[in-house]
Amino acid sequence: MVNIDSWGRLGARPHHVSTLYQRADIATALQAGVPALAYGMGRSYGDACLNPGGRLLHTRGLDRFISFDRRSGVLCCEAGVLLRDIQQLSLPCGWMLAVSPGTELVTVGGAIANDVHGKNQHSQASFGNHVRQLRLIRSDGTIIDCGPRHNAGWFAATVGGIGLTGIISEVELQLRRVVGPWLDCESLAYANLDEFFALSASSALTWEYTVAWIDCRSRCGRGIFLRGRHSQAHLPLPVARKAVAMPMVPPFSLINRVTLPWLNRGYYYLQRQRQRERSKPQHYQQFFYPLDHVLNWNRMYGPRGFYQYQCVLPSVPGPFAVAAMLAAIKRSGEGSFLAVLKTFGVRASLGMLSFPTAGVSLALDFPNRGVSTTDLFEQLNAIVAQAGGRLYLAKDACMPRTLFRAAYPRLNEFSTYRDPGLSSAMSRRLMGY
Ligand SMILES: Cc1cc2nc3c(=O)[nH]c(=O)nc-3n(C[C@H](O)[C@H](O)[C@H](O)COP(=O)(O)OP(=O)(O)OC[C@H]3O[C@@H](n4cnc5c(N)ncnc54)[C@H](O)[C@@H]3O)c2cc1C
Repeated sequence: MVNIDSWGRLGARPHHVSTLYQRADIATALQAGVPALAYGMGRSYGDACLNPGGRLLHTRGLDRFISFDRRSGVLCCEAGVLLRDIQQLSLPCGWMLAVSPGTELVTVGGAIANDVHGKNQHSQASFGNHVRQLRLIRSDGTIIDCGPRHNAGWFAATVGGIGLTGIISEVELQLRRVVGPWLDCESLAYANLDEFFALSASSALTWEYTVAWIDCRSRCGRGIFLRGRHSQAHLPLPVARKAVAMPMVPPFSLINRVTLPWLNRGYYYLQRQRQRERSKPQHYQQFFYPLDHVLNWNRMYGPRGFYQYQCVLPSVPGPFAVAAMLAAIKRSGEGSFLAVLKTFGVRASLGMLSFPTAGVSLALDFPNRGVSTTDLFEQLNAIVAQAGGRLYLAKDACMPRTLFRAAYPRLNEFSTYRDPGLSSAMSRRLMGY
């Protein structure tokens, strides 16, 4: 047994672990008797990628490219390939992933199982919208090829299906055309939530990528709005920066009640000052994956780890609900440095349990302080429930079943596609098995 944790580092638990190297090994690995679960890079924050007491099948050994058509941008690869490797393979040929989350250090299988979204959710929806087909291996040995138009039920259950319908062995993706690795970007300081929503609305049609950092401890909800679109620029490539690493786990969270107000204030004023150079081309890695430059940054939250709380709220009560959530956070004395606000568009995600729905999404990291943190989540959950919103399963570690059932109305339909040979800490917590 090996102790394994997820990105939030809320507590490593023992697992039987095996590594998959060949697609042909998947069916055998699934028939070992104990419920299994695929594990990609473990970049899910909560318990979606954990199966304590059961088996974890590491998929990183399934990392082969199968084919790539440079004319059509159709790429076929194994599910353990990293998004980083796809970007590096396809960019010199004028193609990129159509959707990418805030880190490129995740596998294709993990990106599909959580149906991840990026800064262009309002224009390109989520990862599953760009999957042409995938192959699923079930614990009874069946192989199911599915896509949006072929075996569409299996496809909709597997996209966003948190690894519970089978193991994805290979995938066909449609990439998008780009001129090069550069994006034209702007960052703009906003003084309050009204300004954030106005900027989001005015940027939605002409800027493919938008996202905002919010100072969640400020009285008015000020922050920095970032927008970008693919550039026609042919600039020299930046000098590759070596990633720095958080060398150890500090004895306490570096994000705490003393440091947080200073960090937030400092970041806001620094970024506001930089507005003079606000229109600037940025390399895609800097723009899409700023956190990937600090390896193991999750250690800065200390030995107790941290939670990420991400919700999406429908457009109409959304602004009021976000204001109510910020007020609850401020009252609680808890706080977050990595607080991200983003509007989601109306283009529907394809998965039965996909997270994105039209409205506004708020994501916040909180150091784990035990009961005081989970008490705050209860208050936030009540606001989310009342607004008709939902929490993101890729990030969640403690949502109550009532909220899950109310927020994911296709759960019963999804259950009919579950593989009885697969289970996770999350499935047991939220679905009972
Ligand atoms: C810094 C950072 C930034 C992030 N930004 C975003 C963001 O902007 N948007 C967003 O949506 N998410 C974001 N995330 C979350 C992350 O993209 C997802 O959690 C992603 O699914 C992790 O992929 P993984 O390969 O690590 O999968 P894991 O976390 O290991 O697993 C995730 C799920 O996928 C399943 N799975 C993995 N491989 C397979 C397979 N081959 N077959 C079937 N199931 C499989 C697992 O069982 C599990 O249920 C971010 C995470 C981090 C750490």
